Amino acid sequence: MIDLHTHSLFSDGELLPSELIQRARKKGYEAIAITDHVDISNIDFVIKRIARVCKDTNRAYADIKCLCGVEITHVAPVLVAGLVKMSRLLGAQVVVFHGETVVEPVEPGSNKAAILACVDILAHPGRITDEDAALAAKLGVCLEITARAGHNITNGHVAVAAKKAGAKLVFDTDAHAPENLTDDQGREKILLAAGLNMDEIKTVIDNSRELVKKAMADKRKRRKK
Ligand SMILES: [Zn+2]
Ligand SMILES: [Zn+2]
Repeated sequence: MIDLHTHSLFSDGELLPSELIQRARKKGYEAIAITDHVDISNIDFVIKRIARVCKDTNRAYADIKCLCGVEITHVAPVLVAGLVKMSRLLGAQVVVFHGETVVEPVEPGSNKAAILACVDILAHPGRITDEDAALAAKLGVCLEITARAGHNITNGHVAVAAKKAGAKLVFDTDAHAPENLTDDQGREKILLAAGLNMDEIKTVIDNSRELVKKAMADKRKRRKK
């Protein structure tokens, strides 16, 4: 299991990062990104602390890869590019953007702004248009199929738009509590329900694996500088 969108109590998750990681390990996760909600008020605070716990945990355990991430959330479209850049400079290895879900009043134009800023994952982009999906395909931004109740009601729409445009899909839990973490079977059920076949599901998993590889490579590059 690779899950690149989860929350700890550094935003609205229930668990301390170390417990979130431990619960994920015991579920059989091979990689997890902790991606707490950020805007300009807390971005430096959060990244610094999550990076620290990921670094320590990666040293302690060989069976799980922990990645420091963020979920840029409810930031005005015009400000998104600046926060994406800042996230990467501060050390975020996975940059997720809180997309235009149908269950929250995310500002229209946010999906497009996040894609243009080349986030790694556009989370729960429930209102994605064909035009924005095509832009995501062109810029290599992954669109997310989510396990999260509420956001998940548009999984079918996101899958259709991504397939039509040739955009990459990833699966994440958006876990806020231990019971939100899932396993391979849980992931498969949700992806089948979104209308994907087994070959497409394999590609979704490969896309997440690619993001992990890219995040690790970026980290090595930064260390060499
Ligand atoms: Zn979100
Ligand atoms: Zn989230």
